[in-house]
Amino acid sequence: APNRFDSIPLAPPDSILGLTEAFLADPRTEKMNLTVGVYKDASGLTPILKCVKAAERKLVETEKTKGYLPIDGFPDYRSHVQKLVFSDQIPADRIAMVQAPGGTGALRVAGEFLATQCSPTRVFLPNPTWANHNAIMRSAGLDVETYSYLANDRRSLDFDALLDDLNTKTRPGDAVLMHACCHNPTGVDPTADQWKEIAKVMGSRGLIPLLDFAYQGFGDGLDEDAVGLRTILGQCPEAIVCSSYSKNFGLYSERVGAVGLVAANAAAATAALSQLKVTVRANYSNPPRHGGAIVATILDDDELTQMWKSELEEMRLRITHLRTQFVEGMSKQAGAPDFSSLLNQKGMFSYSGLTAMQADELRSKHGVYVVGSGRINVAGMDEKRMDWLCSAVADVVG
Ligand code: PLP
Repeated sequence: APNRFDSIPLAPPDSILGLTEAFLADPRTEKMNLTVGVYKDASGLTPILKCVKAAERKLVETEKTKGYLPIDGFPDYRSHVQKLVFSDQIPADRIAMVQAPGGTGALRVAGEFLATQCSPTRVFLPNPTWANHNAIMRSAGLDVETYSYLANDRRSLDFDALLDDLNTKTRPGDAVLMHACCHNPTGVDPTADQWKEIAKVMGSRGLIPLLDFAYQGFGDGLDEDAVGLRTILGQCPEAIVCSSYSKNFGLYSERVGAVGLVAANAAAATAALSQLKVTVRANYSNPPRHGGAIVATILDDDELTQMWKSELEEMRLRITHLRTQFVEGMSKQAGAPDFSSLLNQKGMFSYSGLTAMQADELRSKHGVYVVGSGRINVAGMDEKRMDWLCSAVADVVG
């Protein structure tokens, strides 16, 4: 019989990871990688937070078992995450909370829940969005649609088009995915007033908000970044929040996330939790322990919590500072366009406005690596080489 695997086509490589490979192989000493999806400190490292190291030391001493966690995860982790995400806005008995392997795992569990329990469901994604959203939601069995998000200037929100799409393209029961803060890839978030209008439309049309909360604390602060979510929950009796602790705890490889489902009443939340657990069981049985244990250990301890908050603040302020420095640097470059929209954008990423051709030129001529969409990871910038970066950018946009 012929081999079954011989005719399998090669899947296309991940375009962003490919750029990092090219960056590493680039022999130039003056080069800069603005493509990656992780935080970088001033020395170009993605550091382990001190509070994480301290929690790990504590765990080594105190942890007594590597036995399986419950299907819905570590109870202590779940209650801390619930507080972080929902504060006291929603009574605990209306929330079904499940630990998940990263924000990605949370999105997949949420997607399958919608596809199996709320069918037939469509999910609307913003255009553009994190590339994996589309793949995750399709794999989960949902029909994927899009709604308008970015304006033609590629730097601001097309709020009228967004509202228009929510009002005219959706049907009651459709899920609408929104980035709760720090939109990836654009950095463009709705303002507090815009969230109010979005929440009103979502509530009155009976849409299910699916909030992707991957960057809490990277925009304006832990509570400030939850403003959109709180506004939505004020208008919608039902919602799903997929949170990730990859970025704000720097726990990327430990795979720490959660699904927080808000139901209209306690009985519905209990039933939803039981179904979320069925999905988890069939996917990966139960979540990994270590990352969740680290987060719970930190949030159980006042001193470690303070340490975490100040380390998170340090990451946030570094990004804000780099944004300001870059915009100021570009304003001094003769003939360069105005980059001040970057100051209104939130989080690690921004659409720079660079075209694919300019991104290519920036890479080949100057060794500055930028994704073809023009997305830049602000945290990849180097404060000490900002003038160099600005003149390279000015050279290709001028
Ligand atoms: N959602 C968005 C918008 C992201 O940017 C990311 C990570 O880049 C994720 C979810 C997934 O995060 P995790 O690494 O925790 O799976």
